[in-house]
Amino acid sequence: MNDVHERIDGAVPEAVRSYLTAFRECPAEVRRQVRGIVLAHRIPFIEGFYAGLEQDEDAARFLPGEDRRERIIRLLADWFDHLFSAESEAEVAAVVAYQKQIGEVHARIGLPPDLMVRGMSALRSLVIHRLVETTLDRVQLLAAADWVGVTMDVSRAVIITSFVGSSERIARTDEAYRLFALAQNLQVERERQRAWLMEWSHSVLLALHRPIPRNLPPLAKSEFGRWFRHKGLAVLDGAPEVPLIEESIRRIDEQIVPRLALERFDGATSGATSPTELLDAEISAIKFHLNTVFEIQIEVENGRDPLTRLLSRRFVPIVLGREVAITRKHRDRSFAVALLDLDEFKSVNDQLGHDAGDVVLQYTAATIANELRAGDFAFRYGGEEFLICLTDVTDEDVGKVLEKLRKRIAGSSVPLPNGQSVTVTASIGAAVHDDHPDYQQLISRADVALYRAKSNGRNRVEIG
Ligand code: GH3
Ligand code: MG
Ligand code: MG
Repeated sequence: MNDVHERIDGAVPEAVRSYLTAFRECPAEVRRQVRGIVLAHRIPFIEGFYAGLEQDEDAARFLPGEDRRERIIRLLADWFDHLFSAESEAEVAAVVAYQKQIGEVHARIGLPPDLMVRGMSALRSLVIHRLVETTLDRVQLLAAADWVGVTMDVSRAVIITSFVGSSERIARTDEAYRLFALAQNLQVERERQRAWLMEWSHSVLLALHRPIPRNLPPLAKSEFGRWFRHKGLAVLDGAPEVPLIEESIRRIDEQIVPRLALERFDGATSGATSPTELLDAEISAIKFHLNTVFEIQIEVENGRDPLTRLLSRRFVPIVLGREVAITRKHRDRSFAVALLDLDEFKSVNDQLGHDAGDVVLQYTAATIANELRAGDFAFRYGGEEFLICLTDVTDEDVGKVLEKLRKRIAGSSVPLPNGQSVTVTASIGAAVHDDHPDYQQLISRADVALYRAKSNGRNRVEIG
């Protein structure tokens, strides 16, 4: 029982408990016969299910090309088999853990969960209808139907919980990444925009007390308003605070400022909240919302790898997820993932000290960043390992770009603070996107290629 909970990180404990109870209560013979039905019919079950997806316009968008049809059907059939394969409580745990992984993969490829829910109900009724073919008696049949139902329910619950958890994480990072990509020096920008906003509200209040009436400047046309419209919106677009800020600006310009101007001539209207107070409240609201969005941005800025200033590893999912989506839309382009690992780096540390090692890492990061084009991405992936995403490339480009990078690293001598210098080499493994919707698979292929580069003598590029 503990094992189950550990393996699924506490996800849907309710469902897991009922699964274990059902497992214990369902006689082994009944489970065996259910499995027999699944094994005998899983391919036609899954084929029928898959054909249904192909008929569905929404679902069809998520299906890979015809060439992968057989493979996907086989994968689904294996999943289905595995789902009913548990023969011990430990195997129940393994089944649950596997459902969790499936949810994560679905989140990565953006598969809508309702597709899966629909598919699972269909499969469930297919199995239940086939139960009449078994030699089970009436009591056993009930137990079998119950077993099938619980198994499918648990699988669905775990997949969905894990899907939702992963999607939320991905969405949060996505948001954060966009902010990161668009804004530069955030602390400064935040202070500047706050200052402009205060400047404007002071100038409005001052205008009210000037002897000669002047036209009151609308906030939308002030420095702050212009920044918000032209840069802020681009940077903050999609943040829930944006429409709130827009509304405040609109209310200030269309309602409050005209009232302020009127009051100037006609005197205060008694009873109602004064426009000065309203203005104060709206300005405070804008400042508050602005602060919130900037806080998020600053957090992202801090999420950069502090040593190398490259993107930190947590942006890998969103960047690669996006590239997969772009490539699937524009079939004429592709992208590649490369893993770069410094060779014998331990001995650099051992011989020259950890600080010198750090300098080498910074230098290498700068070299990578300089070699890449504007649309490419570089991440610090681990200690002395970097992940590079080359965008908009052909297979040939990948080899050329990485070979050039390898030479550049091997050919530079890194100046150290103590006046010495050191030369390092790197091994690189890369893989070009092959239409698989899960980018994790691409990273694994790059990793295998990196391993080959290491075992083939280091200081080389291998493309897998
Ligand atoms: P290989 O060619 O097989 O990659 O050998 P290696 O020595 O590079 O590989 P190994 O994984 O054995 O050692 C990696 C070393 O990188 C160990 C660790 O001390 C060092 N390292 C990891 N992160 C940092 C860091 O942030 N700063 C410094 N100075 N060293 C680091
Ligand atoms: Mg290494
Ligand atoms: Mg390493």
